[in-house]
Amino acid sequence: MTQSEPDLSAPLATAKAQLATAVGILGYDDGLHAMLATPRREINVAIPLRRDDGSTTLFTGYRVQHNISRGPGKGGVRYAPSVDIDEVRALAMLMTWKCAVVELPYGGAKGGIAIDPREFSSRELERVTRRYTSEIMPMIGPERDILAPDIGTNEQTMAWVMDTYSVNRGFTIPGVATGKPLAVGGSLGRATATSRGVVHATRAALADAGATLAEVSVAIQGFGKVGSHAARFFAEAGATVRAVTDQYGGVQADGGLDMPALLDHVATTGSVVDFPGGDPITNEALLALDVDVLVPAAVEGVLDADTAAQVKARWVVEGANGPTTIEGDRVLAERGIVVVPDILANAGGVVVSYFEWVQANQAYWWTEQEIEERLEHRMMTSYASVAEVARADGLSLRDAALVISVRRVAQAHQIRGLYP
Ligand code: GLU
Repeated sequence: MTQSEPDLSAPLATAKAQLATAVGILGYDDGLHAMLATPRREINVAIPLRRDDGSTTLFTGYRVQHNISRGPGKGGVRYAPSVDIDEVRALAMLMTWKCAVVELPYGGAKGGIAIDPREFSSRELERVTRRYTSEIMPMIGPERDILAPDIGTNEQTMAWVMDTYSVNRGFTIPGVATGKPLAVGGSLGRATATSRGVVHATRAALADAGATLAEVSVAIQGFGKVGSHAARFFAEAGATVRAVTDQYGGVQADGGLDMPALLDHVATTGSVVDFPGGDPITNEALLALDVDVLVPAAVEGVLDADTAAQVKARWVVEGANGPTTIEGDRVLAERGIVVVPDILANAGGVVVSYFEWVQANQAYWWTEQEIEERLEHRMMTSYASVAEVARADGLSLRDAALVISVRRVAQAHQIRGLYP
């Protein structure tokens, strides 16, 4: 989340406009376009919560399966005040393309609850999660739709999802959710997978221009599950992490932030704000900072026409889902800024979710090294295919990634044929 208020009503419009561009390039007809644009199934559920003080509060939850032509639905569950059906629809659509571009045998899905998790105790969040899981039970499962963490949820949330689902079915079913704790069938490397993937994608994009991580400066918006580990991996790879922000504010240091000290500060205070090793910076100023690589790793819509016009970075690597609006994308393209799109750049998380699901289904666990190597390989080969289409067809990396993924989904749909 940012201090300036991003336009959270727009993610669905952005996702639909991106799809329309890809459909235009692919020359698909209106019927196929409508099928690709429309969620296959969606549910909204009422979630009454008995508060710790005995009162009752009602929340609304959602689960959207955007497409299941290539396999079960797959995607996270978001707990945030911004969550509404259109945001979930947009994020579900992005999951469809994300899974397709990195060739996972999944469709795309997303869930969420309109709740600010910071205002509730852990016991209250457990009750909310269990009720939500129980309400969406008919739609989910290892062969139907597999949940994962997203903003406002974590591995404990996934343990509650898995337990609620399993208790109701009468036996342990770890494959219903990924991003679980290791003790209940989680995978090594999952917690850091999105961030590692962001760094692999950045390395690949830099290599296309003959540059390396060791030569570049980086600014990262968002210091949560994605941004904090990415900052660490960038620093470990020799990049100068010049600024980071979280929902409360940020910190910058021209010579680079001392990452171990910053991570200690965050572990103690819960925020990057007031880190003594740098000067304060706002979320907005971070987007306009004079760095080589900008990583928006927070929420949707932060790079619009205005903020994109201020970007000085040469590369924007989208750690968040949907951080760039259509107008923002146009401005960045006009200014020659390379955008590594969300569906590719942040796919590392769902890639290792897939590894976790495969391991759970086989009840056979891989080593951390196997996971890291397979993740890196998948990110690098996916980037290479996208960059190849971009070069051959004169497209942006986003349009190339969308063309590849939309084509894969459409092919699955057409080969399966229409029933009845
Ligand atoms: N929430 C993450 C995303 O947006 C991970 C999804 C998953 O692992 O299923 O990609």
